[in-house]
Amino acid sequence: MSDLLSLIIPAFNEEQMISTAYKEICKVLDDMDVSYEFIFVDDGSTDKTFDEIKALADSDKDRIHCISFSRNFGKESAIFAGLNEAKGDCCVVMDCDLQHPPAVIREMYRLWKEGFSIVEGVKKDRGSENIIHKLMAKIFYAVISSLSNIDLKDASDFVLVDRSVVKALVSMPEAAPFFRGLSRWVGFKSVKVPFDVADRKLGVSKWSTGGLIKYAIHNITIFSADPLQLVTVMGVIFIFASIFLGGEALFRYFTHTALGGFTTVIGLILLTGGIIMISLGIIGIYISQIYDEVKDRPRYIIEKRF
Ligand code: UDP
Ligand code: MG
Repeated sequence: MSDLLSLIIPAFNEEQMISTAYKEICKVLDDMDVSYEFIFVDDGSTDKTFDEIKALADSDKDRIHCISFSRNFGKESAIFAGLNEAKGDCCVVMDCDLQHPPAVIREMYRLWKEGFSIVEGVKKDRGSENIIHKLMAKIFYAVISSLSNIDLKDASDFVLVDRSVVKALVSMPEAAPFFRGLSRWVGFKSVKVPFDVADRKLGVSKWSTGGLIKYAIHNITIFSADPLQLVTVMGVIFIFASIFLGGEALFRYFTHTALGGFTTVIGLILLTGGIIMISLGIIGIYISQIYDEVKDRPRYIIEKRF
């Protein structure tokens, strides 16, 4: 019996892409000696994404499955819902917009057959993203890689994972999973496959700059508690600075060379005020994450499925 490969495809408002993606992916898979199934995860789309998937499934019932969320829960939740549902011996997670070239699946599958449990697609080139987006992505991956000790440079969500990895991933209870991070964190034998990010064929990217910043802060803070230590480090620096500055001020006072000093005072007040507020903000982010965890709500709610 040949292996079963599950394709997990999160889709949010992708009505224009569903059937094209399906056809392109089938073209590649039909050439390979493998049975496959599609798990589309409709992440609360407000357009006709679900109907498109349903129409496809009418022609290919056994191979197309769909989970439809009750609202938009985000790509990470969609990926985990797909992993939970997949029955494959290996699963490939990929975007619906064909920015992850289906032809790469062939190489991923070959490497899996060779014995690798995780085959990560890494971006050779970030495609036609604008320069700010590229720069932010660089900073994000540099920060998260150094804080979490996991190399996430040029990481993508285009990954093949073995059943054993899927099992490990879906057993993680965190409220807000970060697939790219967790699929490296679990360990296992892994290998990288570089690919060129294709241009999005139809539809639009779901990311705004603000959304990306939020996503970056969220994922850095769920993956590392080090920023909390920043507060302590800044406190220590400030204590040393204040000992020095205080000493200097006293010296000037006793030698009668003290100046008005208003500029220094206001400067220091603003600086310390700013640092205290940033520090409280960082603590706040972690508290809100603990809050989300203790509520123990499900990561997503499935409304329809077939
Ligand atoms: N996506 C999703 N939920 C969301 C946002 C995006 O399932 O809330 C899916 C989207 O349909 C696509 C993939 O995630 O299949 C990547 O999204 P997009 O192309 O918008 O991101 P980009 O490639 O611009 O980073
Ligand atoms: Mg895209």
